[in-house]
Parts: sequence; structure tokens; C-alpha cells
Amino acid sequence: MIIVLGQEATQEQIDEVVAIVERRGLRAHLSIGEDRTVIGVIGHEISDDVRVGFLNLPGVEDVVRISRPFKLSGRQFRHQDTEVRIGNVAVGGPGLVVMAGPCAVENQAMLLETAKAVRDAGASVLRGGAFKPRTSPYTFQGLGTEGLRLLAQARAATGLPVITEVMAPGDVEEVAATADVLQIGTRNMQNFNLLAAVGETRTPVLLKRGISSTVEEWLLSAEYILSRGNYDVMLCERGIRTFETATRNTLDLSAVPLVKEWSHLPVVVDPSHGTGRASLVGPMALAAVAAGADALLIEVHPHPAEAWSDGPQSLSFDVFRALMTAVRAVAGTVGRPLVSPVAADAPVVP
Ligand code: PEP
Ligand code: MN
Repeated sequence: MIIVLGQEATQEQIDEVVAIVERRGLRAHLSIGEDRTVIGVIGHEISDDVRVGFLNLPGVEDVVRISRPFKLSGRQFRHQDTEVRIGNVAVGGPGLVVMAGPCAVENQAMLLETAKAVRDAGASVLRGGAFKPRTSPYTFQGLGTEGLRLLAQARAATGLPVITEVMAPGDVEEVAATADVLQIGTRNMQNFNLLAAVGETRTPVLLKRGISSTVEEWLLSAEYILSRGNYDVMLCERGIRTFETATRNTLDLSAVPLVKEWSHLPVVVDPSHGTGRASLVGPMALAAVAAGADALLIEVHPHPAEAWSDGPQSLSFDVFRALMTAVRAVAGTVGRPLVSPVAADAPVVP
């Protein structure tokens, strides 16, 4: 249920509604907009009598049942698009954001080289996995804590904020101490304890769509984070598993406008994992921008053929630079100009 208070509602009236919600053993989530305040009420089922009781309170304009199972991520709770701020970049604002970097942090030199290359090409967030969720336990599992240290160093050297994956609830504190964005990977979309743990932080979260998840399940996973008080959630379409095996996954681009209809949260598209092939990354990145994506997440490696993970889908610096020229053009055409990277005078690595 959501309770809508008009522009003229006083702070006392808002406080009174919240107090009654809490006395009833429910939780109140406030969204204060320019022309109204919306209180999302979370908890057990609410009877009609209780609903009418809220409707009669001073300042209350409407009390609406929420028809979809996702509440806080839905447009009914919040009309306006949510903007997630990562340093001085906003995802979900007027511009398009590009996040790029290697699949995994491999060593200091390759990370710094890639960070500078993607920044100079127009990316404004650096990606890189320190804790890697690999299908096989016999493959490279990431540098872990050392990888986080290298990411912090790359941020200091380039000014780019960093996004990196967290795989376990017990690692959230350590990863959040470095990361500007916590990535929840596809394999963990329904790791509810992990979702709750990142929901307790106030670090922005990028929630990847589960490999076999419906859009509704994906939004319900976002609810686990939002309902803990962390509203800075971005949803990332990264392909789903279908009968098609010619591509690594099937990138569901129709999910982009659909999620934007249903939810106020920003949508990010990852054409790298979505296709698994470097040659398909560019066309799908451009299509994602045209479909309304707020940001792209792209894997870039100095020598894709030598990458320790996801080489076949990683772009070389030259290919990434060329793609960024096309991304700028398409983004401009659809009215979402590329967000400029951090100031060009940001410190450069010694
Ligand atoms: C990644 O971003 O490197 C990654 C492992 O992604 P996903 O969880 O989408 O497979
Ligand atoms: Mn990868």
C-alpha cells in the first residue's frame, strides 16, 4: 500500500502518518517529491478498514493498493526516475554513462593502463572484478583483497570511481570500503542474505539480472535492497539463458523499456556478458542506448587474447575507442548525451 500526501501537507501530518504506520507494526518508506510525498507501507496485509483510517488522516490525499508485487522499485511509489550518484556522475539522469574496464583485475600495470585508456575514450566509471564468481573452481578466482587495493590505486591515479563485485555477505564491509558501486553478479541475484547485507550499506548497488530470472523476480530482488534503506540501486540486463547457444546469453533488450515502464530505477546494459563475443558487443551497445539504457557496462582489456577471464568478449583499446565514437553519436541522437568523464586534469599515475 502507498499513502499519498499532497504538496500542502505539513511535516507534522507526515510524521503522524509515519507514527501510525509504525505503531501498526508496519514499515514506512518515504519518497518526498516536489508536488507530493509518498509513503510506501511495507509489512503484513492491510485490511480495508485500516486503509480507510489512513485516508481520513489530515494531509492524506490517497491510499493506493499496489497491484504489482514489487513496491519500492515500482513507478507507483516513485514517478520520477531515480538518479544514482557515483562520485560526480549520475546514472539515470539526463546523460548516458559508460562503465568500462577488465573483467578481472589481473595486475597493477594492466589495470592502470586500462583505466587510463577507458577514461580517455570517454568512460566515467572503472569496472574490474577482484572477487570473481567463476563457473569452474579450477579457473582464476580473482585477486581478492589485493585486487581491491589495485582498484583504489587506479581510482586515485585516474579519478574514475570503481565498480566491483561482492560475492558474500561477510565480504560486504571490506568491498564497500573500496568500491564506489557494489556489483551483485547474475549468480547471486537471489542470494537474499547478500542482498540484505548490501541493503544495509549506503553504497550504490548494481544488481545484475539472474541468468534465468524473469523481470519480476529481478525487481523483487531489488526490493530486498531497497527495503533495507539503500535506494541507490541500478538494474543491469546482462543476458539470460535461452535455447540459443550461438551467443553466450540472449541479451533481452526488450527488458530495458519494460523495466523503465515498471520501475523508476536506472537500467544498465552489459553487452559483453550479454553476447560473449567481442564482435557483437558494439552493435548491442548501440541498440541498448537506442532502447533507453541509462548506462553501459563494457569489458575492455589491453590484450583480449591474453585475458585471464572473458577474453573472447573483451574489447581492445582501439575497438573500444571506435565504439565510443558511435556511442556518442547514438546517445546524442536519442537525446542522452554521453556524461563526460572526470576532469581531464585529474591526477595521472606516475
Ligand atoms: C562480470 O561482470 O564480470 C560478471 C561475472 O558478470 P555476470 O555476473 O553478469 O556473469
Ligand atoms: Mn566478465
